[in-house]
Amino acid sequence: EMPKVVGEVTFENVSFSYEKGKEILHNVSFSVKPGESVALVGPTGAGKSTIVSLISRFYNVDSGRILIDGQDISKVTLQSLRSQMGIMLQDSFIFSGTIEDNIRYGKLDATEVEIRRASKTVCAHSFIKGMQDGYRTEVKERGALLSQGQKQLISFARTLLSDPSILVLDEATSSIDVQTEKALQQGLDAMLTGRTSFIIAHRLSTITKCDKIMYINDGGITECGSHDEL
Ligand code: ATP
Ligand code: MG
Repeated sequence: EMPKVVGEVTFENVSFSYEKGKEILHNVSFSVKPGESVALVGPTGAGKSTIVSLISRFYNVDSGRILIDGQDISKVTLQSLRSQMGIMLQDSFIFSGTIEDNIRYGKLDATEVEIRRASKTVCAHSFIKGMQDGYRTEVKERGALLSQGQKQLISFARTLLSDPSILVLDEATSSIDVQTEKALQQGLDAMLTGRTSFIIAHRLSTITKCDKIMYINDGGITECGSHDEL
């Protein structure tokens, strides 16, 4: 079990390969302080998504250790690890049910007031209010009637509601309109506050907002510093 963490995340000489293939990460070490936000950038196939999946323990490392608040994540239950984390992947997870159900997911005791508050904070409220039945609007399988940006805003609201110490976000590359981009950026800012965050960032607006930038290339981190330092 893992008590609520403050969210210090450390990689100690982590090496990793998928199913005995070629090594994707080689001796990667870094440390992120509680509450810090990190943008992961680098070419396609460099290993950015791999790094965040290892933090979420979708895979186990070949060697080295990943520590959260000094505790080896391979030594805690998956459930207690994931309960500390908000994981938002490229393809936002939307199921058929109401928008409200989709936001409440995983936190069944959340009240309507809490759901609206979270939605307002991440700038999802106005588009939801504008839909036919507002929060009671039924979304079809995989959110067929929602835009990419709207799905992401719903996923932001859900994540904020669960109040995780650590955030992992694989930002969608898909082109979104300027309006939605603004809403997403504001929503993201609200979520980052007070949480250790790892964001695979494609948009410059996101990168400049983060405390640190890690450049991933050739199985390792080649640069790490603030936007101004690089
Ligand atoms: P992108 O910017 O395109 O999303 P990325 O930096 O996120 O790239 P990763 O997805 O981490 O890159 O992939 C790193 C390497 O690992 C690539 O060579 C990729 O082919 C390989 N890889 C990724 N996922 C798997 C998998 N599930 N099984 C086997 N190999 C994989
Ligand atoms: Mg990726």
